[in-house]
Amino acid sequence: MDDLELYDKAIRHYGIKHQLLMVMEECSELAKECSKVYRALDEGGEFAIDGLAEEIADVQITTGQITRFFDLKERIKAERKGKLKRLAERMKNENCED
Ligand SMILES: [Mg+2]
Repeated sequence: MDDLELYDKAIRHYGIKHQLLMVMEECSELAKECSKVYRALDEGGEFAIDGLAEEIADVQITTGQITRFFDLKERIKAERKGKLKRLAERMKNENCED
């Protein structure tokens, strides 16, 4: 079973409303991990990069499921393209080197 088949199976098993809750929870957990890293960078402390990777994976998996359910792949692709273009333009306007 590939990832997409598993996403579909999870939606059928748990239901879309439950999986939307999972997206909310996983986004919250990712925000918490980002906060830990931010604080550690700010205070010169150490942080566990594994927690950040784990929560990014959780967000990717849960958003992957709702992407499939609502057939958002092409819309997301277009949004990403536009947003990355705006980011590049903004950085160019800020004279970003590299
Ligand atoms: Mg998580």
